[in-house]
Formats: sequence, C-alpha cells, structure tokens
Amino acid sequence: MAVPELAAAQAPPPVRMPPPARRTRATALPEVRWAALAALAFLVAFPLDLADAPAWAWGPLYAVCYAAGGWEPGREGLRALRERTLDVDLLMVVAALGAAAIGQYLDGGLLIVIFAVSGALEALATRRTADSVRGLLDLAPATAVRLTPGGEETVEAAALAVGDTVLVRPGERLPADGTVLRGTSDVDQASITGEPLPAAKAPGDEVFAGTLNGAGALRVRVDKDASASVIARIVALVEEASATKAPTQLFVERIEQRYSVGVVVATLAVFGLPVLLGGDVTEALLRAMTFMIVASPCAVVLATMPPLLSAIATAGRHGVLVKSAVVMERLGAADRVALDKTGTLTEGTPRVTAVHGDEKALALAAAAELPSEHPVARAVVAEARARGLRLPEATDFSSEPGTGVRAVVDGREVRVRRAPGTHADTAVEVLVDGTPAAVLELSDRLRDGAPEAVRALARLTGTAPALLTGDNAGAAGRIAAETGITDVRAGLLPHEKAEAVREWERAGAKVLVVGDGVNDAPALAAAHTGIAMGRAGSDLALETADAVVVRDELSAIPAVVALSRRARRLVVQNLVIAGVCIGVLVVWDLAGHLPLPLGVAGHEGSTVLVGLNGLRLLRDAAWRKAVNGE
Ligand code: ADP
Ligand code: MG
Repeated sequence: MAVPELAAAQAPPPVRMPPPARRTRATALPEVRWAALAALAFLVAFPLDLADAPAWAWGPLYAVCYAAGGWEPGREGLRALRERTLDVDLLMVVAALGAAAIGQYLDGGLLIVIFAVSGALEALATRRTADSVRGLLDLAPATAVRLTPGGEETVEAAALAVGDTVLVRPGERLPADGTVLRGTSDVDQASITGEPLPAAKAPGDEVFAGTLNGAGALRVRVDKDASASVIARIVALVEEASATKAPTQLFVERIEQRYSVGVVVATLAVFGLPVLLGGDVTEALLRAMTFMIVASPCAVVLATMPPLLSAIATAGRHGVLVKSAVVMERLGAADRVALDKTGTLTEGTPRVTAVHGDEKALALAAAAELPSEHPVARAVVAEARARGLRLPEATDFSSEPGTGVRAVVDGREVRVRRAPGTHADTAVEVLVDGTPAAVLELSDRLRDGAPEAVRALARLTGTAPALLTGDNAGAAGRIAAETGITDVRAGLLPHEKAEAVREWERAGAKVLVVGDGVNDAPALAAAHTGIAMGRAGSDLALETADAVVVRDELSAIPAVVALSRRARRLVVQNLVIAGVCIGVLVVWDLAGHLPLPLGVAGHEGSTVLVGLNGLRLLRDAAWRKAVNGE
C-alpha cells in the first residue's frame, strides 16, 4: 500500500504539550470509600443521637461507622501485633471501642471518622505521587505501525526490534527512539527536552519515543529497544523510588514502637492508680481513654512522609525524578555543589572545529571511537561521516573513562585521548601505533540558563559552586568564565573527581554533585547527593545518581533543592505542631479535666492539620515558588 509522504509545508503544526498525567480519581481508592462510608454513617447517627432519638435509630449507624472506618486498621493492627509490633492504628481502634464500651458512642465514632479520613488522605497523596510518575510512561504510545515488505502492520510498541522501520503519521506520537529514513516533519519534543518549539526533522535526524509528530509523515528506523528508550529508562529508575523511607520517618517509626508501648502502660496506670486509691471507676476509665487518645503519636507519624512525597510528586511533574524520600530530605541539606562540564553545563554535543592532521588519521580515530558513548566520540564519528570517510572495522576496543579510547583498526593500534599541553578548547590527540598522527579541536555550547542556575545554587547553598572536569584547563576556563564559576578543577580523572568530593565532605561539607557521564559515576556515588542529566546521561550515571533531571534543564536543579528545603521546613513545622498538641492535651487531661470529645477533636484535628500541611507541596504553586527561589 502507498505510504503517504506529506511534506511538512502544508500547515504549521500546532504546538502541543504532552497531556497531563492521568490522575486516579479519589473514589477509586478503597481507603477513600471506606472513610466516606464511615463519615456518612456518623453524620446521620450523630444528630439523631443528640436529638435523643431511640437507640435503635442511631445505634446500627454507629456500628456501620465503627466497622467501615475501623475494620481495616484494626485488622492491620492485629497482624502487626502477631509480629510483636504495636502500631498506633490499633491504639486508635481500641480507644474508640473503649469509648463505646463506656457509652461514649459519639466520641468513639468521631475518633474513627477523623482517623479514617486522615488515612484516606495519606493513601491519596501516595497514589497521586505514583500517578505523576506513570504519566511519563503514558507519553509513549502503546502501538506502532511497522512497515513490512508486503505493506504495514500494527504492533505493540514494546515488540518493536532494533532495525524495524515504523511509519509515524501526522499528529501521532513516536513509538521508539530512532533515526528518520524518509519524510520531513516538525516534531514537538517538549516531553523530553522541554523545548516548546518543534524541531525540524529530516532523513538522518534522531527522534525520540514519546515526542509528537507534526504535519509530516516519517519513516523511522528503530535504534533502541522500547526498554532502552530515554523515557523508559527514566521511568524504570523512579519505580523503585516510592518504596523507600526518609531517615526522619525511620527514626519516628523506631520511636513510635517504644512510645506506643509506653502509652499503653501509662494508660493502665492512669486507670489503675485512681481506682486503687478508691476513685470512681467510670471516671478513671474515661480519663484513661482520653489519655490514650491524646497521647497517641498519630500526628508525629504523619509529620514526615506527606511533605516529602508531595515534594517528590511535584518535582516529578516538573521533570526532576527524585528516587526516594531519603533523597528528597537530603537534597535541601547540600551546602556545596560540584558541577561537571561536558554534558552538564554544556549541551554535550560538541562539534569538531579543527583537524590538525590528515583525513586518514580522522578515519582511524572515528573507527576507534565508534563503540564509545562519549560526546567527544560521537563528534569525531560525525565529523568523519560528514566528510564522507569510510570507517574501517575496529577490534579490541577498550575505553578508559575520562581519558579516551583504544582499538585495533586495519591492524594498527589507534588511541584517541586527551591532548597534552594547553588548548583554548577541548582537544584530543590521535596516536597510531604510538605515534601522534593528529590533534582534533572540539567546541561545545553552553546550556541555556547555566549562569542563572549557578547563581541560584550559590545563593541557596551559601557557597559558590565548583567545576569538576576531565577536560583541559583551557576549555574548563572558558566555560567557567561564561557561567561565573571561579573554583575550577580541570584534567581530573574519574577517581580524582570523587576524591575532590570526599575531601570537601571530610571538611564537613554536604556535597551535591551534578553530572552525566560514566566518568562522573564515582563522584556521584561519593557525594552526599547526586543528580544526573536524564537525556545526556549515561546509564551508569542515571543509575548511580539519586535524582534525574529528565529534560536536562539546569534551572530544575536549584528548584528541586529549594523544594527540598521547603519540605524539610514543613517536616519540622509538623513535628512541632504534633509535639505541642500532644503535650498540651496530655497535661490538660492529667492535671485538669479534658472532656473526651475535646480530646478527640484536639488529637485528630492536629493529625489532619499536619497531614494537610504536607500536601501543600503537591500544588503547582510550590514548584513556581521553588523556581523563583522563594
Ligand atoms: P567532563 O568531565 O568534562 O565531562 P570527561 O571526563 O568525560 O569530561 O572527559 C575528559 C577528557 O577526556 C575529554 O575532554 C577528552 O579530552 C578525553 N576523553 C574522554 N573520553 C574520550 C573519548 N571517547 N575519546 C577521546 N577523548 C576522550
Ligand atoms: Mg560529562
């Protein structure tokens, strides 16, 4: 069948942004539905109860409320108890049943409802986080049109193999990373590069899964497996993220255990002592129940994760994938930043600007560089191809990160490596059988917003960022001058980058490293926190880093640091609110007379307040503020 090959000329393609991440409806979560049922039953029972209606009218409704709101936490609590841990959920359910046992149905019901609602809010926040990550995956279409000798067939995008040819019609999303074979079009790459203007694509150009084709039809050769595409790599990284807990949370949970046991013991004492001294049993029981409720650390438990998870979700929606709550908590603690040059401050797509030597040497160098992932290697290969040179087969390839490559080409040993001596820009030398054969000069463009990002990071951390690069001092100096960096360390091998980081850390600094290459991996690992550039980044850097800037926007780095600080402030704020509320209510109950409903309202009120406080970071305004450095 005929393949339409429309020219892009007919109409300018509309600029379309990726669709917003699909959000789970709140009512899809069982926690939300149970909480809603508990609340509804309570809201009907409560006025009947107050109006002195007969017990058969409101009694069953309270029972529904207790069961709907208390069943799941009660079961969880009992399961935990069998594993010899006591969780606050169980305390809440016991307190509610205790209140009911002494005739305080309303108070117990109120406790159950507010408890269930705060649980539902927590579940919702967690789910929204997961949604915003999965939203990224939705960008890549599920099916693709594969061209076969006989025509075309629709296949699962995941089933495409390297070397397949796919047809992408106008307005469709690209199913895979690949190269344009035929056709021209404008492709909106905002989902990956953040660049709002469509990029013109013609045969030979690289295209990416999840980007949006404009008005032309393209035949694209698939160059990468679906699982290896830029977008899939990034999503895979984050899937592991949500499973981790921040140190503050782990600390809180360790304390929670002993604290909860303490609350039970104290509750028995608050009940037992007055009774032994001849006090009124009902009054003592009421006081003990109130004590158990107000002393429970619900608000403390809820203080940490919601702000951090909300911040992770918001950062994710804006192109920064933070791999765990631990990282979200740590990012804001950074007081020193080290930036890599090639691929981080610069675009990482250098071009060869001069060849001092003959084309034979260039062809040998390109042949040796072909298997390398380094930006310098890609530039050398591109230059040789642009000159129409034939690249001979290379064998025995090996690379040394931060230095260069070595291979055997046409029976001769070819090395391409950092050129000795001083150069104004990046330079590599080509050695054939140990003899210098050529020097290649390369130049790379600074990324947009690099000077602004450097300034913002200096303001946030209180220290001017440093530049760590394996490139020569000339190239490093040029980039440093353009970005306003004064602390420059050039000519570093990968382990020397890591050593520089460790040195700062030994001096007490918490270092944030931003890098992209294989050569940055040791420094990323040595750092307090590491951020990798998602698009330019090598797999190793993406894996080693704690967070990934999906679209390589430098402005996102100070923004995520600012967001982390805000989350940390909220955690502290929450812990203070929780602590003060518990303290005041406990003293009130023990020293004076705290009515049970007031105790419940105070305790659950502070819990919900703390929970909602954390969710504030889910709003887009939180990111805008972080970008503006507020
Ligand atoms: P950066 O730290 O700026 O990201 P690298 O450490 O990756 O840079 O590289 C440092 C220098 O080592 C490069 O500027 C280049 O001179 C040399 N080099 C690294 N890899 C290669 C390669 N594949 N081919 C030639 N030279 C290389
Ligand atoms: Mg680099």
